[in-house]
Order: sequence, then C-alpha cells, then structure tokens
Amino acid sequence: MAVQTVTKEVDIEEPPGKTGVGRLDRPPRPAVWAQVPDAQWDDWRWQLSHRLNTLEELGQVIHLTPEEIEGISAKDRFRLDITPYFASLMDPDDPNCPIRRQIVPTSRELVGFTSMMEDSLAEDAHSPVPGLVHRYPDRVLMLVTTQCASYCRYCTRSRIVGDPTATFSRSDYEAQIDYLARTPQVRDVLLSGGDPLILPPKILEMLLSRLRAIPHIEIIRIGTRVPVFLPQRVTEELVTMLRQYHPLWMNLHFNHPKEITPEIRRACNLLADAGIPLGCQSVLLAGINDCPHIMRALVHELVKMRVRPYYLYQCDLVEGAGHFRTPVAKGIEIMEALRGHTSGYAIPTYVVDAPGGGGKIPIAPNYLLSMSHDRVVVRNFEGYITTYQEPDEYRPHDPKTCAYCQNKRPEPGQTGITGLLDGERMAIKPENFDQTHRRAPILTGGTETSPIIMGQALTNGERITVVNGEVI
Ligand SMILES: *Cc1c(COP(=O)(O)O)cnc(C)c1O
Repeated sequence: MAVQTVTKEVDIEEPPGKTGVGRLDRPPRPAVWAQVPDAQWDDWRWQLSHRLNTLEELGQVIHLTPEEIEGISAKDRFRLDITPYFASLMDPDDPNCPIRRQIVPTSRELVGFTSMMEDSLAEDAHSPVPGLVHRYPDRVLMLVTTQCASYCRYCTRSRIVGDPTATFSRSDYEAQIDYLARTPQVRDVLLSGGDPLILPPKILEMLLSRLRAIPHIEIIRIGTRVPVFLPQRVTEELVTMLRQYHPLWMNLHFNHPKEITPEIRRACNLLADAGIPLGCQSVLLAGINDCPHIMRALVHELVKMRVRPYYLYQCDLVEGAGHFRTPVAKGIEIMEALRGHTSGYAIPTYVVDAPGGGGKIPIAPNYLLSMSHDRVVVRNFEGYITTYQEPDEYRPHDPKTCAYCQNKRPEPGQTGITGLLDGERMAIKPENFDQTHRRAPILTGGTETSPIIMGQALTNGERITVVNGEVI
C-alpha cells in the first residue's frame, strides 16, 4: 500500500468556517477512507462511530506484524479503539511508527514486570467518593468518564478506563459535587477520566456550571487528549460553551511531533483564541520519544501552537506499560538537553508520579554544586561553573507583620517539608521509627524509671542525643 502519511509543515491559510474545519492543506488519507467526503471526515461524530477496533479493520490500514496480531487478539487486553483521523497518521509499513506504537496493542503489553501494579498511584485509596481523587491539599482530580476517543496503550488508569459498562452516573456526579461543595480548601478542580471532552456536550456543560457555582472553586482544568485524537471535536460551538466557564485551563497530551497536524493546529488556535491557557502533559515512552532531539522538536511545535509544555511524566508502574518504561536517567538527559538550550517556555517539569500515592515529584539535573555560609556554587547548561555571593545582611521577611502569613490556608497534615522549615514540627519520621529506636532503655546517667528527657548519653558505647525523651 503506497499511502502517504507524512504530515507537511503547513499553516492554516484562512480562518476556519463556522460549520466545518475550514480549508486545510492535508495529506492524502489511507485508501480505505479516500472516498469519505470531507464533511463526514471532519465530523467528530462520524470519527467516533467509525473507530477501528478489530484485527480486520486495522489490517486495512497498516501491515500488521505478528506481535501486533498477538496483542490485538489477546483476551482481556486493554480496550482498543482508534479514531480514523489518528489512525491515518500511522505509517502502514513501519512497526516502530511512534503514532502506531501509542495505540496499536502488541504482545509486549501482556508481559509483566517487577513492581507492576494495577493502581500504581494509589488513587482509589485517596478517593472520598467514586471518581474523586483528593491527594493534594488544595486541588482535586475529578474523574467524570471512563471513555476516551482512542486508548493509549500505556494508560495509567487502565484499571477503570475503557470499560463501557462502568462509567460515572448522575448520582456519582452529585456525590462528587457535594464533596467539593463541602470541602472549602479545594480551589482547583481537574476534570479527567477517561476524557471529559468525550462526554455528551450537555453533561459536560452541566458539570462545568455546577462547579462554577461553588464559590471556593477558583479554577477549573480539563485534562484531555481529544484535541489530539479527535481534533474535529474542537468546534466553534464547543469553545463558545467552554469560554463561559473561565478561568478554565486545559492540559493536552502530545508525545511526538508527528502528532502535530493542520487539524491540531486549527483546534489549538480555536482553544487559545477562546482564552484557554493550553498546557501539555507528555509521557516519556521507550521507542516513541526517549530522545532529546524528538522532545526538543515536540516542545518547539507546541509553543508555536501556544501550548506550554507542563509535565513530562516518567512512565507509571502500570500493567501493560512495562515495555514503554525508560530509566529515569533518560528523563534527566532530556531535561539537560532542554534547559538553557531552548526557551524556558518550551521546557516541561519532569516528574515521577510516586508509586504508592506519593504524588508528582519533580526531578532535574543538579545545578547547585556546593555552598558555604556566604557563597553558592552553581553550574549552567554549558558546564560553566560560577558562584553567587549571598547577601551580607539579609533582613528576613517578617511573618508577624505579613497579612498573607497570618491568613495562610490550612493544609491538614500536609505541610510536609514546609512545616519543618516553619518550625511546626522538628522531624518527619519513617514508619515505626520510634519503636525501632526505643531499643536502648539503659542510658548512662539515666534509668528505666527515670529516663533522660533531654541531653546526651552513652549507650552501648555510642553517644546518643535525647530530645523530649526520644532518641534522635
Ligand atoms: C496530577 C494531579 C493533580 C494536579 O497536580 P498539579 O501538579 O497541580 O498539576 C491533582 N490531583 C491528582 C491526584 C493528580 O494526580
């Protein structure tokens, strides 16, 4: 099959019309869809109802490899569904095509690995009501559907996503909204799923308006891959609806420059023109974007479309994603290749979403090499090592006269390291720390009945320090 799938570097020449996608200079479609009229191809409903999900359908678009055939035919595999639009970007002859590898199953996803988990982020344990993940002090992840336009093979939520029989109901939404309404520390609600933009437009608008009606919710965010899988869904009508619910932010999900097409540019233009700040969350994936040059090309394409790279995620320890995982070192290498080498706006934060529910932990190359009481030693991206002289006399900020310090918002149990810095507590102890360290009852200078409360002591020949009756 001699199908041209290379996306040409073209910009939109005229603004899109009200009804259709507008005149776009697009590459020819694969033969199976060559006869589909533009009006249908550009209709998101047509795209959704013509998704590919069988061996036969995929075989009409790409030359399937034995690994792919095995993956697609596997029982109990994660749901397969690909919009014709996104499928048309696949290279029919290259099994390593980065588009293809993100959405076509292979037998490799059936292979387990050390530390593989179903719910690696312990989201279920953080859910006060179904679909709501309250992990951080002031913001909440709100899962509103289990459905997506297409399914990423490395999905972090494959335990719930894609199941057509298990999605969220009206009463789940009511319970979620009720929790948010009575939890005033939540100022930021992040709609996700599944993909919120796959919801029936009326349901999505109902959710947005109900959230907007809660006074303490300051910002609403939508995490979506619909503009990438189904750019046709981004219509004038949709953005007109969305812009009523500002401040509304949106995070998209791009992994490779090959995903940038005239259709995507049009969709991002519409969204950005509606005043929706656009971010991008990418996942670091072996064989897809584990290359500093690919990532640099991607982030450049993104900022050209007014999409700000937000996070680069280390691949989660989730079932089915083993073959996509890279060492963390690869992420550090990519960050090293970005910082200083390109615009700060084009640089995401590289994060490991900590297994077990620790949340996102940023990781970066070390730029701080050393310090003394009056100088720090730092290095730049070129390896230039220099010093920063600390101020001779720093008059510290005075929390007692600062209105913001007086009115700080409560973070029940979550002040963490800032709590240590504020002197709220002296230490954070690992599990069973006290039991482990209460093993030396007889201290020189103290006895079991009158122990040392504060001070130093010798025990087993070692000098230990005791504060508040505890060895530290
Ligand atoms: C990622 C995430 C958020 C949002 O985190 P930000 O760093 O604010 O983007 C909120 N809740 C959960 C559970 C998340 O995983």
